[in-house]
Amino acid sequence: MRATISASPVEAVLDALRAGDAITLVANGRDETLCAAIESHSPDTILARLGEPPDLRLAAPAAYLTASRGRSATIPAIVTHERGVLREPSVPEAAVDLARLAGLSGAVYLGRPPGDAAEGVVVDVAEVVSHRLRREGLVRRVTDPVTLPTPHGDFQATGYLDVSTDSEHVAIVNGYPFDESPTLVRIHSECLTGDVFGSRRCDCGEQLHAAMERIHAEGGVIVYLRGHEGRGIGLHNKLRAYRLQDSGHDTVDANLELGFPPDLRDFGVAGEILRDLGLRSIRLMTNNPVKPRALALPRQAHVHNLEIEEVVPIQTEPNAHNVRYLAAKAERMGHTLHIPEK
Ligand SMILES: [Zn+2]
Repeated sequence: MRATISASPVEAVLDALRAGDAITLVANGRDETLCAAIESHSPDTILARLGEPPDLRLAAPAAYLTASRGRSATIPAIVTHERGVLREPSVPEAAVDLARLAGLSGAVYLGRPPGDAAEGVVVDVAEVVSHRLRREGLVRRVTDPVTLPTPHGDFQATGYLDVSTDSEHVAIVNGYPFDESPTLVRIHSECLTGDVFGSRRCDCGEQLHAAMERIHAEGGVIVYLRGHEGRGIGLHNKLRAYRLQDSGHDTVDANLELGFPPDLRDFGVAGEILRDLGLRSIRLMTNNPVKPRALALPRQAHVHNLEIEEVVPIQTEPNAHNVRYLAAKAERMGHTLHIPEK
């Protein structure tokens, strides 16, 4: 009889691994992999359980494989990412994360479950991701606040590290600590060309400075997210996309032509930064309908519990260079922008 696949509480999985039992990891709701910590079973006992044909692999961090070279040389090894599922949400990373969380070495045998019955405790890779997010989060505060004097006034700047991407984000704040009323917030995606050079191909620089002006006056937070160039495709690909736009593509088509989805950014980290700053309820300055939705995703909700009380639009003046770009954002991506008729 086929076992019903349901996500087990991760604690039960850890107990099973500590007790030397094999567990079943499920990816994408169907692919099942039998996993046992290296401390629990010799390869022979796992092979005996797997039956024929043998399909045994070892998953472990590079450091473990280097230190134990030779011991399991006959078994194919998968080197897992040191950040585990937070960087790579797949079965080998999930198995190694679970073994480490159980206090074991983090080296795990993987095999195909025999027959069609899932063995032992069953857990989904997504559940391992949620567990780690709840415990650790995606961002760490890495600096204490420091004064940042700007043309708009003084802010307090605090550095955050995104552990899944190594991006160095920053929050600039005025009016901390905040009272109970909803706090004005801008989540700004890095745009080197717009923010630093004042490129008129987009309105990022203008939006940033409008937000700084208003947030300095009313109190609030700007979360500046690095690694978001060109809606996540990177600076150089953004320059390539500009060339495509010059030959007639709009901003959405240009990204698609280069093989990227229109928007690759993940705003969940911003939610964690806002919670770290003690915010519970915010007024979000944005024209982008994705940002409030991204902050309210179920995957994120249990992590940061942010209430978005109000979405506050930022209106910038279109110019001859960015009017087509702004129109594409309004028409293709649902941004709330008023584009004047020519
Ligand atoms: Zn820009």
